[in-house]
Amino acid sequence: MSLEKENTSNDGVVIVYTGNGKGKTTASLGVALRAIGQGLRVCMVQFIKGEWHYGELNSIKKLEPDFELIVAGKGFIGIIDDDHAFEEHVSAAKTALEIVEQKMSLDIYDIIILDEINYAVHLGLLQLSDVLRLIKNRPKKLSLILTGNYACEELISLADLVTEMKAIKHPYKKGIKAKLGIDY
Ligand code: ATP
Ligand code: MG
Repeated sequence: MSLEKENTSNDGVVIVYTGNGKGKTTASLGVALRAIGQGLRVCMVQFIKGEWHYGELNSIKKLEPDFELIVAGKGFIGIIDDDHAFEEHVSAAKTALEIVEQKMSLDIYDIIILDEINYAVHLGLLQLSDVLRLIKNRPKKLSLILTGNYACEELISLADLVTEMKAIKHPYKKGIKAKLGIDY
């Protein structure tokens, strides 16, 4: 197979990483690593904060200002130690979307990663229409990566690249806990 490397367009692309298998957020980090190596600038906004202190929080600091991270979400929603009201999660997700809008208007990034935004829509923290509007109004050369399972049909049809991570095996099923550097 020959890889066509000639750029036919400077327009950005909309990428969606979804599915029940592991690799959505880490795939977006892989793209960021590749892009930064090509002199591009990347911003990642986290819509739902994870359970642990993820290694990428430290790695991204080492890559600043080419890579910037904003943790806007409030933490896992609905799990046992979630002590935030639903409204707080809604407000945090709304703020995250506003941050993305601000970052877009700066026009200094080549890629913006909207990490776990698909879950935020799925859980009803964000209106799908607001997300679709944001995608349509983005600067033409900006690429967006939207991660999280349960990406909805409208988003999938709007996107240029959609990959579904499919869980075939996960050590979690054998009772193996999250692993440092692999899972967080
Ligand atoms: P990663 O951040 O590792 O790329 P992800 O973004 O695809 O994972 P999320 O839904 O954001 O997955 O969940 C994040 C955490 O859940 C990670 O620690 C990941 O290892 C774990 N995880 C992801 N998929 C599965 C699965 N199918 N079974 C159990 N744990 C999973
Ligand atoms: Mg993820």
